[in-house]
Amino acid sequence: MSEANVSHVAERSQSSRIRTAAFPNESRLEGAIGALVRDGYPEDLLGVAIRGEHTYLLTVVGHAGREHELDARLLGLGANVVTGASELPAAYGVAPHPGVREDHDMKLPMGREFPAAAWAPAIAGYRIEPPVLPPRDRVWSFDEVEPGYTPDKAVAEADRCLRCPDPPCVRGCPAHNQIPSFIAALKSGEYQTGIDVLRQTTDLPGVCGRVCDKARQCEGSCILAQEGGDPIAIGLLERFLADWELQSGVRPGRTARRAPATGRRVAVVGSGPSGLTLAQELAQNGHGVTVFEALPVIGGALAWGIPTFRLPQPVLSAEIDALRSLGVEFRLNTRVGPLLTVDQLLSSGFDAVFLGAGADVATTPGLPGEDLTGVYSATTFLSLAKLSRVTPENCWQSPVIGERLAVIGAGNTAMDVAQTAVRLAHADMQERSASQTTLDVAETAMRLGFRGVMVVYRRSEAEMPARREEIESAKEEGVQFRFLTAPVRFIGDADGRVRAMECIEMALGQPDRQGRRAPVPKPGTEFIVEVDTVVLALGYQSDLALLEATPGLRVERTGNVTVDPLTGRTSRTGVWAGGDLVNGPDTVVRAMVAGRRAAADIHRYLQTLPLKEQEVSS
Ligand SMILES: Cc1cc2nc3c(=O)[nH]c(=O)nc-3n(C[C@H](O)[C@H](O)[C@H](O)COP(=O)(O)OP(=O)(O)OC[C@H]3O[C@@H](n4cnc5c(N)ncnc54)[C@H](O)[C@@H]3O)c2cc1C
Ligand code: SF4
Repeated sequence: MSEANVSHVAERSQSSRIRTAAFPNESRLEGAIGALVRDGYPEDLLGVAIRGEHTYLLTVVGHAGREHELDARLLGLGANVVTGASELPAAYGVAPHPGVREDHDMKLPMGREFPAAAWAPAIAGYRIEPPVLPPRDRVWSFDEVEPGYTPDKAVAEADRCLRCPDPPCVRGCPAHNQIPSFIAALKSGEYQTGIDVLRQTTDLPGVCGRVCDKARQCEGSCILAQEGGDPIAIGLLERFLADWELQSGVRPGRTARRAPATGRRVAVVGSGPSGLTLAQELAQNGHGVTVFEALPVIGGALAWGIPTFRLPQPVLSAEIDALRSLGVEFRLNTRVGPLLTVDQLLSSGFDAVFLGAGADVATTPGLPGEDLTGVYSATTFLSLAKLSRVTPENCWQSPVIGERLAVIGAGNTAMDVAQTAVRLAHADMQERSASQTTLDVAETAMRLGFRGVMVVYRRSEAEMPARREEIESAKEEGVQFRFLTAPVRFIGDADGRVRAMECIEMALGQPDRQGRRAPVPKPGTEFIVEVDTVVLALGYQSDLALLEATPGLRVERTGNVTVDPLTGRTSRTGVWAGGDLVNGPDTVVRAMVAGRRAAADIHRYLQTLPLKEQEVSS
């Protein structure tokens, strides 16, 4: 592109809007020029292209009336587009495309003399990625894979946000976090304001910032993503503020502020994200809250399921400590059901009950040999693997995985199982190497020869329900995938331990009711795979014993409890429900939203109750 175009561009810009498109590298710049020319875009409307060490800019003038089309095309080509419309009075009538950033100080680039430093904000238009532990290092530990942003990187990423007036990211967030506001506060270094904005709508920012499926929620809705560019790293920014809050120690003091005690008591069944959120909201309003948890640990799937390399324990522990400082009581190892019923809770002084018992009862395929030693459900495998490390005082035994482990299923839980198994195998090799030899760890790993983790899935990779980032991460760590394959039976040895599984090849047939093509077995293709451990990650359902012991509760055929979607009220007066128990296996953020919604309704309900005897007499 010739610099001679500059004066022409300046002239044309009097009647059209001029914008500068910044690209992350030279090849994208070249590609964009080629694409615009192929589109039939007149070359004389393309201005100077500046190439520098980190500077790849193209100045482009719009066609009157087709400004938005051009902006959308440039954004789609991966550019960060900036316009200085305020400098060009004749262009005032043209509102920039919402994905375009307005920089009122923008100067028209004038050839190579143009100071590239002035374009730093535009160049920083590409998502700033935090460091990630390389796979060869991360398989040796259960430490978090992604250490998160440093303050300077967080501010630089926050600076990319366009503060859209009608932000689609907020609509994409199930909790409706006020994303542009918290990002603006972060950008100005006002971290406390930023976390306060977040906590208006979420009780678990450190958790959600890490585990939410951002690509299908806020980040997938970000205007930059819609235009084909890199969305703002909303989850990482949320996590940055939550980690700052955790490290600065401000949280316990702030949450300890609660309304005066109301004398009302609420029982919460289950300590997952729905129950924890509800407990926090009600305790802050002065109500007494007791959480009944069947397991000896608090947090539901956050505690027993999601591995520490995705959700470190201190993040969850901080939320639990804050709840304790609000006076929330936890009764662990206490299962509500036939022996301690909801009716008993209501008649023993609790004014309301919230059922947040999740859906963590594993479904099984009903295949011969599934009860052999060494065949685990994902729930059992993950909880043993995690809790034996996080709470050794509970005497959990980590699973023994041998040399070959097969995971059946292809959801996020299956990916967590596969990556956990890889780490357990490496930990085992490390232990054996320490006691046997002085070889370095990598060499010992090769010699001791862990043969691997294989994910077996009956459909193809395209149908895998797991998040793409989790699949890629598992592949990087050496997990193998066997698609269009299903187990037929598990084969044990004389001691009743699984040693092999018979599988059959599958083909994809007609789409089912959800539009997914149904897998169909191919007769005569059976084959045997040697395995030492099998983990079934095939789905979950709710605890039917609890539901059957609660008369009057309307339950769907799937085992999900029916509630009023606006309030979480069940068909039983005084009983609310939310989270996976209502939705089936779902997400942390939706469980949290359900907990908040039910808490608001329970708070209203408690205020309508007649005063208790002691309140009347006092
Ligand atoms: C391995 C794994 C990985 C996941 N990864 C993600 C992820 O990355 N992102 C995401 O958004 N979601 C993820 N999820 C899903 C998410 O964790 C759940 O949707 C969420 O935890 C549901 O919250 P909940 O409060 O409804 O129930 P849960 O978190 O399931 O908690 C329910 C609690 O109730 C207890 N309980 C059950 N029955 C009783 C009873 N009768 N009496 C007393 N207590 C009882 C259980 O022990 C449990 O502690 C994952 C789930 C699993 C299993
Ligand atoms: S995060 Fe994306 S959609 Fe949301 S305000 Fe910023 S640029 Fe706009």
